[in-house]
Amino acid sequence: MLVLCKRLLVLAIYALLLVLFSCSEREEKITKKPNIIYIMADDHTTQGFGIYGSRLANLNPTPTLDKIANEGIIFENCYVNNAICVPSRAAILSGQRAQTNGVLDLEGILPIAKQYLPQEMKKLGYQTAIVGKWHLHEEPASFDYYQVLPVQGKYFNPEFRIQGDKPWPNNVIKTEGHSSDMVTDISLDWLKNKRDPNKPFFLMHHFKAPHDDFEYAPRYEDYLADTFIPEPESLYDNKNNGSIATRGKNDSLTRIIGSSVSHRNLIRNQAHNIYWNDTTLHRKYGNARDIKPEQHVKFELTPDEKTYTSKVYQDYLKKYLRCVKGVDDNVKRLIDYLEKENLLEETIIVYTGDQGFMLGEHDYIDKRWMYDEAMRMPFFVRYPKTIASGTRTDAIINNTDFAPTMIELAGGKTPDYMQGKSFKSILETGKEPADWQKSTYYRYWMHLAHRHQNPAHFGVRTKDYKLIFFYGKYWVDTDNPDAEYNKKSWGNDYANHTPAAWEFYDLKKDPKEMNNAYNDPANKEIIAELKKELLKLRKDLNETDANYPHIQKVIDAHWND
Ligand code: CA
Repeated sequence: MLVLCKRLLVLAIYALLLVLFSCSEREEKITKKPNIIYIMADDHTTQGFGIYGSRLANLNPTPTLDKIANEGIIFENCYVNNAICVPSRAAILSGQRAQTNGVLDLEGILPIAKQYLPQEMKKLGYQTAIVGKWHLHEEPASFDYYQVLPVQGKYFNPEFRIQGDKPWPNNVIKTEGHSSDMVTDISLDWLKNKRDPNKPFFLMHHFKAPHDDFEYAPRYEDYLADTFIPEPESLYDNKNNGSIATRGKNDSLTRIIGSSVSHRNLIRNQAHNIYWNDTTLHRKYGNARDIKPEQHVKFELTPDEKTYTSKVYQDYLKKYLRCVKGVDDNVKRLIDYLEKENLLEETIIVYTGDQGFMLGEHDYIDKRWMYDEAMRMPFFVRYPKTIASGTRTDAIINNTDFAPTMIELAGGKTPDYMQGKSFKSILETGKEPADWQKSTYYRYWMHLAHRHQNPAHFGVRTKDYKLIFFYGKYWVDTDNPDAEYNKKSWGNDYANHTPAAWEFYDLKKDPKEMNNAYNDPANKEIIAELKKELLKLRKDLNETDANYPHIQKVIDAHWND
């Protein structure tokens, strides 16, 4: 009897332990924080995907990324607030706009104290790491671990600055191989060997590719080699895109504004970039840097020029897409590893580019413009536990919203000092709250910089409309000879102010922005509303020109044009 009682008691204790254990296991499942991998490629634009339905989608450039995106939520309306590397990265790390975080241009420095995103993630119990392109000048000291490329970094045999015994910036190590492979090798090594398995992790995995000069790994040499890459119509006919700010009166500035695919822009064009060492072409066209604006004659797209432009475009796009392929294949390596280690389902995968890119649309290369190809960012998130697969949303988000969202996904609250807003509820429901933002603000400061020759501008975009004001001035006061201005490092060949003008695009009717309809009387009312919204955003976001009276003067003079 006593033995039976003892046995029953032992069984009861076992049963109790089993119940307790399964409860705690369930509790752990509920309370366990997700890992987050934030993957960002450099200049990977929405046209360079399958999922965004561009003219290039049928080439199937991103099978891995498309699969991840389709298993989660895809954002149709994600926008950068300044389409260049450093300001975009500063906004992502700080959750703040340019005049608040202090990074207005490529030389802007985000202080270590303002590397808020990793700081907040650490407070929430995360182990943090950043690998790959950094470009924010100061040491990424707020991360538990870093191995980052110096400035732009190199495509082949890149050096990295690595956290360790040597002080920044002399903590350099050499690697051998292609940068996309190296960045992935380093992240995999961190996941395998340096990660603390008792903590959730937050890894920022940043590719250098497909930034120019588009040096792809040799194994992609044959990729698309025999394929004709679809061309945008606007490569050859820009119709009524632009204004006197971007084209000059009677197109008198088209040869010096906006770096081009064709020979149109004499200061910088892709033909010139690619065939820099082709002496025949140099003889024919001269060195663009030596040609004065008044010597320019109107660019004629003759049959010869058209053939040549097409050739350059094909070369440009093939190089770009080969770099994209290398990114896609390397993301697959990361995903395969997570799957093998049973980490995939407990890891939130975020993918984006630091801004868009012009792939020959309007005969433009590079980014910087507020036109959609440059301003729009790819953005999607996979996390089957809370995000339904096959979701798409047209809610407007921008890159200052990323940090608040990731902090809230990690169980925190958006800090008061951040200007972005968390869109966690949109991720989890696919629905846009009624009071969600209806517009986003954009500002490009680097007037005519880096031979890409984009006039400075700002504007507002809603789901349906876009209003841009080109003020055409340097952001430092050129009237004041003692001011530190026209940064020489920007390399302005033709440093000058350019005409001010407004542009308005009705995006539902004209998604490719081929008709600047600012002067159409039918749009008067909506333009007035957009100007109100623009004023409000500039004020609310601390983005006015109170500190730049020479620019404010231009705005005042042209506000009611
Ligand atoms: Ca970039």
